Amino acid sequence: MSSSARGAKVRYAYRLRMSATAKALLLAEWDRCRWVWNQCVAASDAAHRTSITTGVKLECGPAQLDKLLTGWRAEHQWLSDGSSVAQQQTIRDFGRARTKALSDRKDKRLSPRQRRGLPKFKSKHRAAPSLNYTLRGFVLDGRVIRLAGGIVVRPLWSRELPAAPSSIRVYRDALDRWWCSFVVTRPDTELLPTTGQSIGIDWGVVDLAVTTSANHDLEHPQHGRAAAARLTRYQRMMARRKPARGAVPSRGYKAAKRAAAKQHAHVAAQRVDTGRKWAKSIVTDFDQIAVENFRPKFLARSRTARKAADGAIAATKRGLIEQADKHGRDLVLVDPKYTTTDCSSCGARAKHLLPLSKRIYRCDYCGNVAPRDKNSASVIRNRAGFVPAGVDGIRPERSPSGQAA
Ligand SMILES: [Zn+2]
Repeated sequence: MSSSARGAKVRYAYRLRMSATAKALLLAEWDRCRWVWNQCVAASDAAHRTSITTGVKLECGPAQLDKLLTGWRAEHQWLSDGSSVAQQQTIRDFGRARTKALSDRKDKRLSPRQRRGLPKFKSKHRAAPSLNYTLRGFVLDGRVIRLAGGIVVRPLWSRELPAAPSSIRVYRDALDRWWCSFVVTRPDTELLPTTGQSIGIDWGVVDLAVTTSANHDLEHPQHGRAAAARLTRYQRMMARRKPARGAVPSRGYKAAKRAAAKQHAHVAAQRVDTGRKWAKSIVTDFDQIAVENFRPKFLARSRTARKAADGAIAATKRGLIEQADKHGRDLVLVDPKYTTTDCSSCGARAKHLLPLSKRIYRCDYCGNVAPRDKNSASVIRNRAGFVPAGVDGIRPERSPSGQAA
């Protein structure tokens, strides 16, 4: 688990602060690149149709499109006013999207929905601006980024880049906020000092994570509550102002929709933040981490609260695995079967499933009494073969029932 991929490629995203000039320049650049993209769609469709009617395969890859681009730029002054680097990159992106779509079509493991979709026309009103730049197209100049075509943008550096980036994407989200995301090769592992400590982690609905440590339990992020109430209000507003079929949405409807989207983004960001901080504290304080291998069910009929909890658990678990991997910690995923019925002290299995209302585990064999979730967390740690510090310092063989999934 902990053997990390050597130099994993990861994305680091930052919010952008932009001057009105930069914004106008970027939008103009996006308009030209969108035009180039649409020309590529038309050209490759035409080549495909000619290939079918004549029976001779007509190539229309990046090399041919690059030649066409030279022609288009000679023909249109407004096009050659833009950066050629950005337009050439659009052709690369198009080529990659097309190749991927063609190979997806042959991949029988994908659903029909995932298999459709050759690159399509990007409409002015529906496609969100998004521009890619490789090393030729941007320079990191101190705290600012200089993009091809003399565009300067300022990221809000919320965290340090771990290495020099190899490419950058500049884009606008549904809330009209601008972002940039860098692709960087993260250094192998950042080893943390050993602590000699182990921990067991059990996921739950009441508390998001209950652990064998007194100081590392994680409550369900409560920012959900107040925000959920606000969200419901905006959604009701949207329902009241919902436009008739085919009618143009009112200004009020758009405002409510925007407010709801904003609320969503806010809650999601806070969840990610809380989860990240918790995962960091776990990998800092423990060498050995045993985690219940929770798999969300997303039952169609389950309550909203349960669905939200499932989502939060899945995201937190993923974050924890990433952190353990990054810092070279030993993380074992443990099958959740019988973790609620087994005794963490003597290993005996209770005959009956404990009803959810009973919060205390009592062992009939050894008399062990423990809070139910704490008992489960200990069972999980035992199954991974981790011994609490100070018991004997010897790590036993992993029991067969505790095999990592
Ligand atoms: Zn017992």
